[in-house]
Amino acid sequence: MAASVRVGMVSLGCPKNLVDSELMLGDLARHHYEITADPAEAEVLIVNTCGFIDSARRESVDTILEMAEYKKKGSCRRLLVTGCLVQGYAEQLRAELPEVDAFLGSADYPGIARVVRGLLGRKEIEEPLLKVGNPAWLYDSASPRLLSTPPHMAYLKVAEGCDHACTFCAIPKLRGRMRSRPVEDILAEARSLAGRGVREINVISQDTSEYGRDLYGRPRLDALLEALDTVQGPRWIRLHYLYPAFLNDRVLAALARGRRLAKYVDLPLQHADDAMLKAMRRPGGYRANLELLERLRDRVPGAALRSSFIVGFPGETEERFETLLKFIRESQLDRVGVFAYSQEALTPSGSLPDQIPERVKESRRRRAMAVAAEVSARRLKGRVGETLEVMAERPSRDADAAVVDSVEHGSLAPRRVAPTIRRSAGDLWVGRTEWDAPDIDGRVYFTPAPGAAPSPGDFVRVRIERSTEHDLVGRVV
Ligand code: SF4
Repeated sequence: MAASVRVGMVSLGCPKNLVDSELMLGDLARHHYEITADPAEAEVLIVNTCGFIDSARRESVDTILEMAEYKKKGSCRRLLVTGCLVQGYAEQLRAELPEVDAFLGSADYPGIARVVRGLLGRKEIEEPLLKVGNPAWLYDSASPRLLSTPPHMAYLKVAEGCDHACTFCAIPKLRGRMRSRPVEDILAEARSLAGRGVREINVISQDTSEYGRDLYGRPRLDALLEALDTVQGPRWIRLHYLYPAFLNDRVLAALARGRRLAKYVDLPLQHADDAMLKAMRRPGGYRANLELLERLRDRVPGAALRSSFIVGFPGETEERFETLLKFIRESQLDRVGVFAYSQEALTPSGSLPDQIPERVKESRRRRAMAVAAEVSARRLKGRVGETLEVMAERPSRDADAAVVDSVEHGSLAPRRVAPTIRRSAGDLWVGRTEWDAPDIDGRVYFTPAPGAAPSPGDFVRVRIERSTEHDLVGRVV
């Protein structure tokens, strides 16, 4: 029966959610559903939502309503909504979105093919299905998964959930307690990804530093790194979302030694002012965090350091915000993301006094990004004249376009490309170095050698001729 049923999926939010979407697609494909990228021709539509902050929730609801239109137009027979938004707001959604036939929580999607079959088997859905349990499930290497990223890169989720209590964050409520996959199982999936031609594996979880504590009684990121470094095939294995604790010498030594481990550290610090960090229930302080970054530079030579910060947290005075600006200047981070605080009912900080007006938050976000851009521009200028290894990703879609979109934590942050790098479309490629993660960091715009256009995923050597605030420009040598 399922052989001719077409299913479409919209995946919103972070790469962790994307992996969930790929697992749902894998289960559906295994049960002979046909996957389509065109919602107009889908008979079943699934929206895998994000519920992290207000803007993400709005985007999720807008997308559900947009997909519900396809039910009215006739092609879509069943609409399912999954993910974090359902986990946090199931009852509200059920009351307000009668178009939806099933709501599944953030870990309630295993066996989705069976759920779809059940829904299609019913003549009418009088009461939508609601399945929202305590998030406890995590996939393994035997779970079918359909990759949706470009063939040369993939995400690898090593753990799910979080045991921290950062006051601004709803993740522990939406994703449950931390649960790690065994090293051997992760290794099996990494090998399978390598066998599918993946050249860059991006290791993700909510808190990668603490990987393994729930399974082994203590964090075992060091053991995981050593195991992953043995996987033949990928050139870069990149770590995301490290927590500024548990980065012990064993982890740093493994990172420094690893031949395939990208020299890249993604360490969200969230703020730099001692009082703000305390209010956020984050570890460290101004001095301690600077020292941590110094230690990382010392132990993992040549590593690019990325961090992200929240501005406009309740009680953030102008003086405390200035402390953050000072930290961004002093720490000389290679890459910085800045987000405006979002007041959330599901979080402890949602009910704190001294909330900051939206326009102040936005103005601080811009000011902090401007300081980070100055630092980045200066650091990138130092690369001019070097020859770097670059992974080719794609021809530049429109090299004359003035705006390139960069996705930051699920929200679009338009970024201007300096006029100096505009060239006619067609002769320019976009790639990344080991120091740039997909979607969130900078790019290398390069001119291929005459008559030798690369394929996506190829590695080329690019001599850097120019730099902008966030990107490098050069040509293949
Ligand atoms: S460590 Fe990250 S995911 Fe966990 S509560 Fe803090 S911000 Fe949220």
